[in-house]
Amino acid sequence: MILGHFLVISLALNAGFLYRDYCKGKHHYQEFFSFKNECKNASLTLLETSPPPFSSSSSSSKAFDGIINLDHGDPTMYERYWQQMGDKTTVVINGWQFISYFSDVRKVCWFLEPEFANSIIRLHKLVGNAITEDRYIVVGTGSTQLFQAVLYAVSPPNASEPISVVSAAPFYSSYPLITDFLKSGLHKWAGDAYTFNKDEPYIELVTSPNNPDGFPRQAVVNQNQGILIHDFAYYWPQYIPISSPADHDIMLFTVSKSTGHAGTRIGWALVKDREIAKKMTEFIVLSTIGVSKDSQIRAAKILQVVSDSHQYKGNFKEGKAFFEDSYDYMARRWKQLRDAVNVSKLFSLPDFTSGSCTFSGRTFGSQPAFAWLKCEGEIDDCESFLHGHKILTRGGKHFGGSEKYVRISMLPRDETFDQFIERLSSISSS
Ligand code: PMP
Repeated sequence: MILGHFLVISLALNAGFLYRDYCKGKHHYQEFFSFKNECKNASLTLLETSPPPFSSSSSSSKAFDGIINLDHGDPTMYERYWQQMGDKTTVVINGWQFISYFSDVRKVCWFLEPEFANSIIRLHKLVGNAITEDRYIVVGTGSTQLFQAVLYAVSPPNASEPISVVSAAPFYSSYPLITDFLKSGLHKWAGDAYTFNKDEPYIELVTSPNNPDGFPRQAVVNQNQGILIHDFAYYWPQYIPISSPADHDIMLFTVSKSTGHAGTRIGWALVKDREIAKKMTEFIVLSTIGVSKDSQIRAAKILQVVSDSHQYKGNFKEGKAFFEDSYDYMARRWKQLRDAVNVSKLFSLPDFTSGSCTFSGRTFGSQPAFAWLKCEGEIDDCESFLHGHKILTRGGKHFGGSEKYVRISMLPRDETFDQFIERLSSISSS
């Protein structure tokens, strides 16, 4: 087995690099970050429209009239909490550490750092949002890589036709793009799961709570030939009541939306079947020969501190426990948004039924990472309407939905969010 690992690695090393200019192809990476103009200006736009970290609100009483970019889901809201934690999450890595490709060659996913694996299991047990027993853990460069790995792993290798991949609309806008990106012949995007009625094998993506609309989800295709992939990027107690530990065959998680560390690029999959875990590992080896250990160690530290902040509250003089603090943040932002929307006749928001959270003991309605805002009345293209008011959002058609809707990130820094609420309120009252 160890020899096998070396063989696959040397294959991957010899494969060389594939450089792709995303901006020239028709699959713009604007779908992930969706900057409306040229791709090359993407980072520029981000810098121009986002205030620097922790800047205090403008001292001027004049309302901000620049562009407010809430198109992408960059979770910078979380910077403030982690800054309050000071040195608690600081990781020092010496030059001699983590030089090897390997972490634990006895494991199916041999590049998974044991420290990271332990921190995942501990956090899931604490939060009660997923079963970890009798599961293989596969680490990925974000859950984006794991999604690709899982598609590769579960698609029949020798079928005459690519297997259909579906998800109930509105679905996460990256799914169709990632599924068809390489035109692999293994799988093809087949759209809205509600309309899928072919009597053949298929893969259904179940995102719960859902991006973009925040509702809890279950599989909708009523057939027995389906392979289910559960994307639990947002199944955390700041966003939705935890009802029970999720117990599915393939479950994807990420630090991007749980702790806010999107830049660390770390996700993990909990997988029941050994062969699927092995094939996912093979995919990651052939694409990136494993996953940054430095990032895994950083992610491990962050998850440990999240667990510590709840289990050893007394030691956390710096601030509240992580999920309490982030729950309060989301609750406050949703209240601000609902207040702004309620005074208008122009917009509406989804209503969520309350549920009881086994983690916090609270009863509350979802307060998702995105707002699925509807333009009411005459406004048919909500994205263009808000664009006219210099608010950048992602229109419903990107999610297989109606143009009357837009998706708005609820996770920007305070200053941007406050500017957005002020702008939205002024549209309503004008
Ligand atoms: N799944 C869903 C539903 C998401 O919203 C996102 C992030 N936008 C991802 C996966 C990708 O997360 P990551 O940063 O871990 O690649």
